[in-house]
Amino acid sequence: MTEQGTLLSVRNLRTEFKSQRGPVRVVDGVSFDVGHGKIVGLVGESGSGKSMTALSLMGLVPSPPGTISADSVLLDGTDLTRLTADQMRRKRGRDISMVFQEPMTALNPVKTMIQQVGEPLSIHTDLSRRAIREKVLHMFETVGIPEPAARLKAYPHELSGGLRQRAMIAMGLICEPKLLIADEPTTALDVTTQAQILRLMVALRDRVGTAIVMITHDLGIIAEMCDEVNVMYAGQIVEQASVFDLFDRPSHPYTRGLLASIPKATEKRGGNRLNSIPGVVPNLAKLPGGCRFHPRCGDAMPICKIKPPELTELGNGHKVRCWLHDKQGGTP
Ligand code: ADP
Ligand code: MG
Repeated sequence: MTEQGTLLSVRNLRTEFKSQRGPVRVVDGVSFDVGHGKIVGLVGESGSGKSMTALSLMGLVPSPPGTISADSVLLDGTDLTRLTADQMRRKRGRDISMVFQEPMTALNPVKTMIQQVGEPLSIHTDLSRRAIREKVLHMFETVGIPEPAARLKAYPHELSGGLRQRAMIAMGLICEPKLLIADEPTTALDVTTQAQILRLMVALRDRVGTAIVMITHDLGIIAEMCDEVNVMYAGQIVEQASVFDLFDRPSHPYTRGLLASIPKATEKRGGNRLNSIPGVVPNLAKLPGGCRFHPRCGDAMPICKIKPPELTELGNGHKVRCWLHDKQGGTP
């Protein structure tokens, strides 16, 4: 990716929580780029640090107990890590916004749809109430909410899960942000609605040009919509590649495990289906020595138990954190 094509550039993002055993690093040195208008995936099992990465980028990790640091988080040239809380509040909803997994918890149950979907406009613009209503109506049409005018006065509980998620996406896009972070936006939905929402997001990227960070535990979703992908494990990126390269030459044993667990077209989506990889994501407070994945890895070598591998480039921007591919000498 060329430098001028880069919208978001994250370098060495680290997020820690205090615990009784000392600090626990839930995001540990994460670096990735998102080009203008690109869809970039963050994929990994539950607990791998995807949501914490997203919340850290949004400046939404509660602090204390959390602390975020990074070498830089450049959004269109502005380093978000250098903004005050007030300046960051002005970025959120306008330049960068987020869609959460469960809209029922993210939406306010006692506010109508027009009140909350229009809220970013009342915060960030001088538009009149009438102009805001027009914009929300238009955005409801854009995200495919049927009878949009009738839905403006609805409360969240009066909408189906699919419509609530569409409304959340409308809220995320209402100020036409440069970047939308979608955190498992379809996990709670049925297969048909999920497919509709994913198609909608790709269409919005094509029409509005919003870049998307797509967070999912499902490599099938990555294959359908992303340009590039970052595979996360235990707070770190373990593989980074274009979607083509990742599926053509998956290089981390963890990625291969995830790929082996993609359901066939005939199977139903949903639930945790990553059962082809034995074991679970380690407790971050008690990480194994060496490579964090070695206790679950079928290819582990002696060095994997001792020394943590670095993220190394295989070529064409394809990077992997694994001794099998490290020319510095993984092989004994
Ligand atoms: P994912 O979204 O990939 O499922 P998360 O980002 O939610 O994973 O979680 C990453 C890690 O951060 C997990 O180990 C989780 O237990 C830990 N974590 C999440 N929230 C908190 C918190 N408030 N305090 C301490 N640790 C947390
Ligand atoms: Mg999550």
